[in-house]
Amino acid sequence: MCYICGREFGTQSLEIHIPQCIKKWDKVEALKAPGDRRKCPDPPQNFDAMLKGAADGSYDVDKMNVAAFDNYNTKALVPCDGCGRTFLPDSLLRHKKGCKGVPARGAVAASGGDTAVGASTSSLP
Ligand SMILES: [Zn+2]
Ligand SMILES: [Zn+2]
Repeated sequence: MCYICGREFGTQSLEIHIPQCIKKWDKVEALKAPGDRRKCPDPPQNFDAMLKGAADGSYDVDKMNVAAFDNYNTKALVPCDGCGRTFLPDSLLRHKKGCKGVPARGAVAASGGDTAVGASTSSLP
């Protein structure tokens, strides 16, 4: 898995893809206002070694993918100020328009309580 864009590749394609993905990131960021630009995420620790090990079978590919995903999730994605979920920068802009802040777990619990009260009242003579 690519630690920058989160897409899955075979270990050999990944070696070719990553330099291209870094270039693409820089290209996209170069179009933005200087204040909005983000640095391309650094690779997870020992990613080169992991990639080489995964390619020749001496390292677990799944573990490499977990490290790559973790890197992607924490460094490439941006958390929403409202609800804390992580998004791609573009998706975040779209999400923020409809974001209702904290997930609506409290609202669901409250409406469940109302129903219980209504049921007990109506059973009275
Ligand atoms: Zn990529
Ligand atoms: Zn949100």
